[in-house]
Amino acid sequence: MHIAVVGGGLTGMTAAQDLAQAGHQVALFERDSVLGGLAGSFEVGGTLLERFYHHIFTSDRSVLDLIIQLGLGENMEWKPTTTSYYADRVYRLAAPIDVLRFRPLPFLDRIRFGMLVFQARFVGDWRPLEGMTAKEWLIRLSGRRVYEQVWAAMLRGKFGDRAEEISAVWIWNKVKLRGGSRGKSGQERLGYLRGGFGLMVEALEAKLAGLGVAVHKDSPVEVIEPAPEGGFLVRSDGGSTRYDQVLVTTAPELLAEMTPGLPANYRQQLRSIEYMANVCCVLDLDRSLSEVYWLNISDNRIPFVGLVEHTNIQGPERYGGSHLVYLTRYCDPLDEYYTMSDDELVKAYLPHIQRIFPQFRPEWVRRSYVWRERYAQPVIARHYSRLRPDFATPLPGLWLGCMAQIYPEDRGMNYAVEYGHLVAQRILSDGGTHRV
Ligand SMILES: Cc1cc2nc3c(=O)[nH]c(=O)nc-3n(C[C@H](O)[C@H](O)[C@H](O)COP(=O)(O)OP(=O)(O)OC[C@H]3O[C@@H](n4cnc5c(N)ncnc54)[C@H](O)[C@@H]3O)c2cc1C
Repeated sequence: MHIAVVGGGLTGMTAAQDLAQAGHQVALFERDSVLGGLAGSFEVGGTLLERFYHHIFTSDRSVLDLIIQLGLGENMEWKPTTTSYYADRVYRLAAPIDVLRFRPLPFLDRIRFGMLVFQARFVGDWRPLEGMTAKEWLIRLSGRRVYEQVWAAMLRGKFGDRAEEISAVWIWNKVKLRGGSRGKSGQERLGYLRGGFGLMVEALEAKLAGLGVAVHKDSPVEVIEPAPEGGFLVRSDGGSTRYDQVLVTTAPELLAEMTPGLPANYRQQLRSIEYMANVCCVLDLDRSLSEVYWLNISDNRIPFVGLVEHTNIQGPERYGGSHLVYLTRYCDPLDEYYTMSDDELVKAYLPHIQRIFPQFRPEWVRRSYVWRERYAQPVIARHYSRLRPDFATPLPGLWLGCMAQIYPEDRGMNYAVEYGHLVAQRILSDGGTHRV
């Protein structure tokens, strides 16, 4: 079969690999000039760095298997990392003992807060959580004060006005995943690929080339339409080519835009899956801000929800001495920070860094980069399983495999790889027959 894969993120690349390995002729279309999608990279000091901060958890089996298969297993490093929390000052929250010392909460609430991680681990069946919001679940387990003090600002920072609609399933999964990635002492351990996850993307790209996959970069797909002789015409680069099957790995809304022939009710379903955008500022500093890797910001006056000092997981020596800090903001695509110029954004952020780290001086900034992504995080509201689209679309031979299908888990490189395998298997097993 001739198969087109739209989107060169990890889902599309993994699926393209599996389909080509099964003997099919595959073409991969990517809008951007590099592959990797949200896990794409750029270079700092001669080393690849993700545009958006990335690490993996000890339970991320599928991406670890891919790394090993690509011959990069030796590069995988597991580091104890420090997570902290900023309210009026920085509080360390890296190990269970830190929770007991967490002064913003009265002592009993600290215990309730700490217990949440254990309670989340023992939730066997997530279905009863589907009808509950994250807010209801968090208040039920750890009380209103813990919710207001710790979780409310975090949820607002990630989902804006939609924060109170977010499903308990989403937060349960987050707490479980992060709480589970720990060493014996309870200290958090996170994984990073020495040299950057970009090495994995590059190795996968080389593998695709070896398998004969035709990779078209800088090639946004504009239209997908049924071909008169069967299959689909895919229009990109000013030309149209016919394929027997097409797999789209972009946000569902983009599939609706690209494919006018989809039934109206299905297009409506795709459009009702909302995504948060993300604007991520990367600062190249001449010195470190602190020893904290991951700083959650719980202060509504600060326009970013997280500050990630990447060079606390991969030393600055790998980046020609640069200390690299990400400042992340999830938002609506019309948000003022998302739409302002890169220079304005950096200028607006600097005083807030100083608020958190009073010793910080703007002169420490050697360079800055700003990355934006419209489709960064699906909004997972209550009863999301009813909204989640199937791999099969109503047009036989047209498939959707994307971040918005990952559930009850949340998006991440691991699930992009896992769902890439799953959607390829489904295409191979259904062989073009249709099932919704
Ligand atoms: C801020 C941030 C931090 C993250 N941190 C982590 C982390 O620490 N660990 C982790 O595991 N994961 C993390 N992730 C998530 C992870 O990056 C994603 O889950 C994963 O990379 C998604 O892969 P994908 O292929 O499904 O989607 P995408 O990477 O979104 O790929 C879709 C691709 O389709 C392309 N495309 C869109 N329209 C068209 C078109 N018309 N024609 C052709 N191509 C098109 C896009 O350019 C893109 O390359 C993070 C994400 C963000 C935003």
